[in-house]
Amino acid sequence: MHASLYASLPEEIASRLGLEKAYRGRQIFEGLHKRGQDFASMTELPAALREKLTAEVPLFTSSLSDTLRDEDGTIKLRIRLADGASVECVLLEADTGRKTACLSTQAGCAMGCAFCKTGALGFRRNLEASEILEQFYHLARGRGTINNIVFMGMGEPLENLEALRKSLAVFTHPLGPALSPRRMTVSTCGSAPGIISLADEGPAVGIAVSLVSADEEKRKALMPAARRWGLAELKEALLYHQEKTGKRLTLEIVLLKGINDGADDILRLREYARGLDVIVNIIPWNPVEGLDFQEPSEAAVQLYYSRLERSGIPAVRRYRRGRKIGGACGQLGEV
Ligand code: SF4
Repeated sequence: MHASLYASLPEEIASRLGLEKAYRGRQIFEGLHKRGQDFASMTELPAALREKLTAEVPLFTSSLSDTLRDEDGTIKLRIRLADGASVECVLLEADTGRKTACLSTQAGCAMGCAFCKTGALGFRRNLEASEILEQFYHLARGRGTINNIVFMGMGEPLENLEALRKSLAVFTHPLGPALSPRRMTVSTCGSAPGIISLADEGPAVGIAVSLVSADEEKRKALMPAARRWGLAELKEALLYHQEKTGKRLTLEIVLLKGINDGADDILRLREYARGLDVIVNIIPWNPVEGLDFQEPSEAAVQLYYSRLERSGIPAVRRYRRGRKIGGACGQLGEV
């Protein structure tokens, strides 16, 4: 089975297909990414080439197996990959009409965060860059322009850095979707080496770190990856990234009732954030069957938010979207 052409840059398309004229690679790339065409519709190509592509190259190697819609407008797609694995991806629409695609980078996840459905499923495999891009095009079909991408779906993106970078090269390509790196955010559970690699070699996408707690022991109990990259090592990587890129970082706090929502937790967070230019994203935990946590009450979330504000740490609250279709943060799962 050939991979699709979605992750191939214009010159790679030309060489992969053995095209003598390099501009044909550009035409195919533009047709796929700018105009959302299939091969048969690319009328600037000679008829024989269109026929050959249609017969020999799959447009998609993945297929849509389910579409779920929440009444709040969120759409979750279940995508079946060529080897039978499944991943999920989500399209969120803000009140302003701006659309954000939340993409998966792995089938399952090896990181095992205790509060996350994907973590409970375990790891199956890394996705190919083309499989990351195909999620975007499954989401985009008939739904207009997508303005932002967040790599916050299934998996730890920085454990699949090569495919992530490859997909970013396509997403930012001027002949393709031409999305600015500023419109893309990679979420990590705290991979210090991955953060340093992005600082050194780019691309200059936003980074969101799932911190959850600034208490080492609590964090280790909730996130096994915290035993690999402790809080001190993580902070060093964040300071390095900040120094190198000058970019503000996001710290994500999945708020778990009675576990990390107290006044002490804020004090530790304030201490940890010292020296960092950060904004805290508060994500009230979304229930997952079989996971023994409780979601914080609306009042507890509000109290946490105002305590953070009083501590001088800028914060935003993530509003709960896609919960009825299991499409909210931490609820994705199909392997
Ligand atoms: S929160 Fe992210 S890194 Fe942690 S288990 Fe879930 S998908 Fe993996």
